[in-house]
Amino acid sequence: MTFSERKESSKEKNLQSNSCKDCSRRDFLKLFPLLAGTALCMHAQQSEASEPTKTKARIVIAGAGAAGLAAAAQLAKRLDGAEIVLCDARKEHYYQPGFTLVAAGLKPPGYTVSATADYIPPGVKWIPESIVEFDPAGNRVVTDKGQIVRYDFLIVATGLKLDFAGITGMDPALIGKNGLGCVYAGPDAAYATWKAISDFADKGGVGLFGRPKTEMKCAGAPIKHTFITDDHLRRRGNRGKAEIIYAAHNKTLFSIPIVSEKVRMLYEDRGVDIRHEHVLTAIDPARRRATFATPTGNAEIGYDFINVIPPMRAPDVVRKSPLAWRDGPFAADGWMEVDKGTLRHKRFANVFGVGDVAGVPKGKTAASVKWQVPVAVDHLVATIAGTTPELIYTGYTSCPLITRLGRAMLVEFDYKDNLVPSFPGVIAPLEELWITWVMKTIALKPTYIAMLRGKA
Ligand SMILES: Cc1cc2nc3c(=O)[nH]c(=O)nc-3n(C[C@H](O)[C@H](O)[C@H](O)COP(=O)(O)OP(=O)(O)OC[C@H]3O[C@@H](n4cnc5c(N)ncnc54)[C@H](O)[C@@H]3O)c2cc1C
Repeated sequence: MTFSERKESSKEKNLQSNSCKDCSRRDFLKLFPLLAGTALCMHAQQSEASEPTKTKARIVIAGAGAAGLAAAAQLAKRLDGAEIVLCDARKEHYYQPGFTLVAAGLKPPGYTVSATADYIPPGVKWIPESIVEFDPAGNRVVTDKGQIVRYDFLIVATGLKLDFAGITGMDPALIGKNGLGCVYAGPDAAYATWKAISDFADKGGVGLFGRPKTEMKCAGAPIKHTFITDDHLRRRGNRGKAEIIYAAHNKTLFSIPIVSEKVRMLYEDRGVDIRHEHVLTAIDPARRRATFATPTGNAEIGYDFINVIPPMRAPDVVRKSPLAWRDGPFAADGWMEVDKGTLRHKRFANVFGVGDVAGVPKGKTAASVKWQVPVAVDHLVATIAGTTPELIYTGYTSCPLITRLGRAMLVEFDYKDNLVPSFPGVIAPLEELWITWVMKTIALKPTYIAMLRGKA
């Protein structure tokens, strides 16, 4: 561990002990049913497993991230004799929800990194190559090393592309320099963002936050970082030296009206200046100036710190393939044309899309992956077995929205914008709670890893 990492780790302990000052005995008593509930839920899924279906089907999974690995684990359990192949060139696995904690100064970058190989289930073959062509009419994919892999079923789980080129002047190599942050760009970028936030919290100035106008993964993350930075400024006695601006891409702060209103009230309480209908189009990192498209023309705002969150689109290989939506709201950014309830492709019945790449109205979180993958697997296995599938994806999406260090709100919703709390009576959806903070900082990662292994 380097000196700076040791320093960070001791700061982390301080922050955690500060937040523990907020714990009440009642909170502790509430925590245990929650964790026990998680364990029970895993147990129930295991005991419900029926006899594996015998088959010689060839199944290709494109992408070994959260959704691809979870799909591989579940298929390996439910099928006997299938040839399951995972394609992904990336050898490191990123626990992306942890990027928020790294960029908050609470965890070292290594907290989010592990080896993909550790999660490949026995009997599943991993081809460490990227797919460069989807040919759903020919039932084959082509890798960057020229391998042609044929399949009977395909699950696409390539995640999404951070389109930095969509912001003029943005260069990910500059993250961490000149007050430029980006929580999304990987473990090192999240850590460099923390350094920039910490510097800003020492000096004050103008802090710029916001989100892109495209669909995005974890739409709560830009909001979390606004609150986290506000809290660091307050803890250092420097909030009075800083102006925090949140640039919202439209007239709301979150797609669920009741959550949007709650965030608005909290922003008002913390003195965050909201600029609606401001979409970041360009930055000048050397001059620390950002340009936003607004209904009345371009607006330029100078900053001391900016958290750039780029537009997000389907990876080019999906966007330019026959798998993408051809019309409607998901066509421009190339999201996959799947049925929102079954995750099955609307034109290629042996193809499924899960995780961030799926062109469905909600669901770009790891928590959604947990509910999407069993549905796609259920429909795929039922097709092989000639039975009727049972599961439907309702749009479940969730986000533990950190509102200060030591507090978070668990926001869970579905396609109909209903709030769908998993722990009614224990975790109130729109309350800033210590128990939700514990979930985000401690319980979420083991649950995520269990999901990769097909155990949650
Ligand atoms: C800052 C941040 C905070 C977040 N916070 C939360 C949170 O609090 N809660 C939550 O539930 N979710 C959160 N998320 C979202 C969550 O991490 C993602 O929704 C989830 O990882 C999506 O899983 P996925 O498998 O679709 O994509 P990923 O996990 O990104 O995996 C995609 C995989 O596909 C591979 N791939 C890409 N292109 C190809 C190709 N051509 N061929 C083969 N393989 C390919 C990639 O290498 C990668 O391994 C957060 C994300 C970020 C960035």
